[in-house]
Parts: sequence; structure tokens; C-alpha cells
Amino acid sequence: METFDIVVIGAGPGGYPAAIRAAQLGAAVAIVEREYLGGTCLNWGCIPTKALIAGGDLYAKIRHAEALGITVKGAVANYAAMIGHKDKLVVQMRGGIKQLLTANGVKQFTGTAAFKDRTTITINGTETVTAKKTIIATGSTSAVPGFLPKHDRVVESRRFLELTDLPESLIVLGGGFIGCELACMAAQCGARVTIVELLEDILMLLDGDVRREVRAHMEKDLGIRVLTGKALTDIHADDRGVDGKYGDELVEAQLLLCAIGRKPVTDGLELANAGVKLTDKGFIVTDDFCRTNVANIFAIGDVTGKTQLAHYATAQGVTAADNAINKSPHKHETLVPNVIFTSPEIGTVGISEDDAKKQNRAIHTGKFRFAGLGRAMAVGETSGFVKWIADAGTDQLLGAQVVGPHATELVAQATIAIRAEFTVKELGNTIHAHPTFGEAWMEAAHAVHGEAIHAPPKRKK
Ligand code: FAD
Repeated sequence: METFDIVVIGAGPGGYPAAIRAAQLGAAVAIVEREYLGGTCLNWGCIPTKALIAGGDLYAKIRHAEALGITVKGAVANYAAMIGHKDKLVVQMRGGIKQLLTANGVKQFTGTAAFKDRTTITINGTETVTAKKTIIATGSTSAVPGFLPKHDRVVESRRFLELTDLPESLIVLGGGFIGCELACMAAQCGARVTIVELLEDILMLLDGDVRREVRAHMEKDLGIRVLTGKALTDIHADDRGVDGKYGDELVEAQLLLCAIGRKPVTDGLELANAGVKLTDKGFIVTDDFCRTNVANIFAIGDVTGKTQLAHYATAQGVTAADNAINKSPHKHETLVPNVIFTSPEIGTVGISEDDAKKQNRAIHTGKFRFAGLGRAMAVGETSGFVKWIADAGTDQLLGAQVVGPHATELVAQATIAIRAEFTVKELGNTIHAHPTFGEAWMEAAHAVHGEAIHAPPKRKK
């Protein structure tokens, strides 16, 4: 039986960086993956969605190119070809991960890993390895409620991303980030889309002003119907279509995409044999050092039920590998930027204005709309804004939200500033290149104290 210092279970964005990090630190490492290298993120999540969204965005830009003096005739969104682009990219990137693991000397096993005891792991019930330490990174999968009919016309995100035909009409059940991203992409490519969200609004984790901005664009520019505050009930699917009741209204479409949340993947792991504790929702209990209740077993990523994002899984993976090998353990970072590739894009980091108010924290905010920027006007992308949330006493930057062009890139700048504990003044005094979208952060910092140059002063009461 082979013995490894570290066995990683699951090769998603949590698991494969953990394996590489452990190998960099000199450990003998194995990784076990039962499907494809890259996990949900590469195969059915971040990357495939962004490959399709890139097509949807480009198609939308082409249709608005006239405003910049460019006439494009005969542009067609060929959805099957877009899926082909996505599939090619995914296969190419899987190959890249395999090369990285091999180059770092990580032994790769294909199959389902299961615990026989705390240090013995079986693979597909046939091979057995000994693991001095194990890092569990088995991720999550779509939660599909039992009340949904089992029919080809009812899909979750993984199946949706395999379809080569975009339906003419689509109901998206759930207004979280996965539902809203795919709804925008489908609408940009010509589908009639209805989102039904039980809560009072879509994207409820965002500040109200950001939600209003994005929802208005989704409704007015993309023609998406957004129905909130009530469940879709009496859902029925047959060969002609799918429908459900939103109050008294019958909502009909060719396809229903269920995007109501994610549940942990622990099936087949036989965690009870190792004594690993779960929460009442089935996630693995861990501390900030990525440790489970069992001394030699760590867990990271979506299966821990904390922030379910790829870059957070990676940060945890690197921390878990460090802690499994080094003697002085360290906590993983907790400042996690969040990016949402809707149209318009969204980026957030740190505390939100709404949460700060709920916590009775003394804050002040500064907002700057892209419409006040030369670059935004030059490229015809003027909607949206950036916003700082800062401590009213110390002026330290605590949070930021951005909605509009390049928001998913712009949030990186805010993340660094908050991580470096910049104050509003320091950020405002930092020279930003002109003409760029990034100047909005500088102006918004000045706006905290009513000193933005390219915005009219607030009227005195
Ligand atoms: P996963 O990526 O789920 O990987 C777990 C791996 O473990 C899988 O490959 C699985 O096959 C394997 N496995 C499970 N059990 C076993 C076993 N017993 N033995 C062996 N192998 C096993 N996040 C972002 O940050 N940005 C985005 O833009 C983004 N977009 C998304 C879009 C969609 C549609 C979805 C569904 C998710 C998106 N996410 C995004 C979330 C992101 O994909 C997850 O947070 C991330 O993949 C979690 O990584 P992980 O390593 O914890 O698990």
C-alpha cells in the first residue's frame, strides 16, 4: 500500500492548488478525482459560464456598435458554436491542470475516494492508500427541490451548460448570482427570460442601490421579466413546455433552469469511518485554519459551506496545505471579493452599506457614477457607479461595491486598498491614470467628504 504525506480528495479550485502547494513544500502528495480535473469551477461553473457570457456580451456590443460609428450587418449568435468554444476551452484548461500536477510530482488517481479509517483511503473500492494527512475538497452540487418535475425541460446549471440549443423562452427559478448571470447571457442571445425569486428582490446580498441599478438594466435593456416576492408553484412540464403559477399568473416557457442554491458533496466519502463532523445542513465543520474535528483531516472550499467561490476555495486550499505541513498554523484570509457577471457586471468586497447600518456601525459613503468619466463617455459605457463604505471615525475603507462596465476587474483595486487598510484620504490622494474607469474610485473617495471634482456639489439643505 502506497503512503503519502498528503492525500487531496477532489481536484476543483480548492483541491488542485492545495496539492500543488503541498508538493512545493516538499510533501509526497496524491490527488483523487472522480470526474474531471478543475471540478465545478472549470467544467460546469466559473469558466464555462464566462465563455458563454463573453459571447453574449460581444453580441450585445455588436448590436450597439452603431453608436461608435461602426456598422455591422448580419451578426448572428450561433449558440451551438458558442457551446463548442466553451467545450474546447474547458478541455484545454483541464490539460493545463494535469500538466501542472504532473510537473509538481503529484500522483493522480481517478475514482471515488472513501475513508476506511482516519488514515486509510480506498479509491473506487479497489486501490487503497495511506494518508498521513488528508485535505477534503469535494465541493458542492446544485440543490434541486423535490417539488420540481423530473423532465428534460427542467434542468440545473450543469445540464443547462451542456445544451447546444438555446431555448426561445426560459424560466429561471432563483435570482442568485448563478441564475442572474445565465439569465442575462440567454437574454443577450435572444431568449425570452423570466426570473422568479421567492425573496423580495434578486441578488439580495447586494446593497439596495446596486440591486436597483442592475435590475433596471436587466428589465429595460435585456427585456428580462423579474418576478419577486412569491414562489413559482404548481410547476408542470411536458413535451410542449414547462409552466408554473406566480400568484394567479401562469408563467410559461420552453425550459426551466433551477438555480436556487448549492448543497455539499459528501456522498461516497464514508466520512463516518473517519469521525468527521458535519453541520445540520451536511457541510463539513472547519475552523479558520481549515481543520476539521479530526486532527489529521482538513477540509476546504464549497463542502465547508462558507463562502462558495472558487478563489476562496483556492485561498483555503493553500492555507490547508501550509497548515498540514508546517508546524505553526495560520488562518486563511477572510476578505473575499465577489464578482457577478450579469449585464451590467457587479463587484463587491468588504462590508456592505446595508450590513454596516444593520450593525449600527458609524460609516460614511462616497459614490461616483461612471457617467462623470471621460473614458466611460468615450467608449459609450456610462451606466453604473462605484461606492466606498468607510469608517466614520477613522476614515478607513471598509467595503466597496461597483456596478457597471468592467466591475469584475475594478473590484480588485478596491480589495487591495481595503486589505492595505487605506483611508479615504489616502485613496483619494493616490494619482489615478486618466482617462480610465479606475478614476471612479478616486472620485468616489473624494465624494465621501463632498470633494469629488467631476460631480456637482450636494445641494445645501
Ligand atoms: P468543486 O469545484 O466542486 O470540486 C470538487 C471536486 O471533487 C469535483 O471535481 C468532484 O468530482 C470531486 N469529488 C467529489 N467527491 C469526490 C470523491 N469522493 N472522490 C474523488 N473526487 C470527488 N465561483 C467564482 O468564484 N466565480 C464564478 O464566476 C463562479 N461561477 C459559477 C457558476 C456556476 C454555474 C456555478 C455552479 C458555480 C460558480 N462558482 C463561481 C462557484 C465555484 O464553481 C465553486 O465555488 C468552486 O468550484 C468550489 O471549488 P471546490 O474545489 O470547493 O469544489
